Amino acid sequence: MVVIGLTPTHDFKNEHANMPWGYMISVIRAGALPVILPMLPEDQANYGDFLKRCLELVDGFVFTGGSDVAPQHYNEEQHPRCGEVVPTRDKMDLALMKMALDSGKPLLCICRGVQVLNVAAGGTLYQDLGSQYPGSMQHGKSNSEEIHSVKIEHGSMLHEIVGKDTLMVSSCHHQAVKAPAPGMKVTAVAEDGVIEAVEFEDGRPVLGVQWHPENLTATNPGHLAQFQWLVGEAGKRARRPRV
Ligand code: MN
Repeated sequence: MVVIGLTPTHDFKNEHANMPWGYMISVIRAGALPVILPMLPEDQANYGDFLKRCLELVDGFVFTGGSDVAPQHYNEEQHPRCGEVVPTRDKMDLALMKMALDSGKPLLCICRGVQVLNVAAGGTLYQDLGSQYPGSMQHGKSNSEEIHSVKIEHGSMLHEIVGKDTLMVSSCHHQAVKAPAPGMKVTAVAEDGVIEAVEFEDGRPVLGVQWHPENLTATNPGHLAQFQWLVGEAGKRARRPRV
C-alpha cells in the first residue's frame, strides 16, 4: 500500500501533537495510508538523519497548513501584519521540503505548504494580502467551505488533474505567493489575481495549492482528484513491495 507522510502540526502551548482530520481521511479516501511525521526539536542530535529516515519511510508527502513562514527565510523584514511564526516548524518544513524536492517523490503542498514550497525553492510571499495587495478580496474566510473560484491554466498538471477551467475553493489565508521561485509557474489565480496554485515548469510531480482540498474531498470531486493524483504518482514510484 502506498504510504503518504503528513508534515506535523504541533500545539506547542499544550504540548500536543495534532493533525486535522481532513488530511488523514482524504489520503485514506484516495486509497493510501497516511503517516503523521513527528515534529523534531530544533536541537535534535542527528537532525538530518531523522529527516532522511522520514523521507525513506514514505512514498509521497502532504505538506500541511499552519502558521506563517518567518520572512527571514526569504530575506524580508517582518511586516507588522505577518502572523505568528513557529521556528521549530519552519526549520523542519524547509529542510524536509528541500530533501523531498531532491528525492523526486510527489508532493501535495497545501496552504502553508505551498508557501513553504515557494520559499524553499527561492521565491517570496506576501506577508499580508490585506495590506500589501491592493484590491485583494477577503481570503481569510473558511478552510472548509467553498469561498471563491480559481481560474486554472490550460496545459498545466493541475488542469489535467481537476479536468476543469475553474474550481470553487476554500480560502483561509492572509499570505500568498508573491514572486514564484525560479522554475515555477502559476497554474491558478483567484478573481483578484492572487496566486492560488503553482507547479514546476519541468513537470515534476509537485503541486502547490493555496486552498484546503482536504476539507472538500467528500463533496467536490475536483478536490478529491488532487489526493488521487498524489497517491497515483506515489504508487508509480513506490519501491517497497505492495502488501
Ligand atoms: Mn484564496
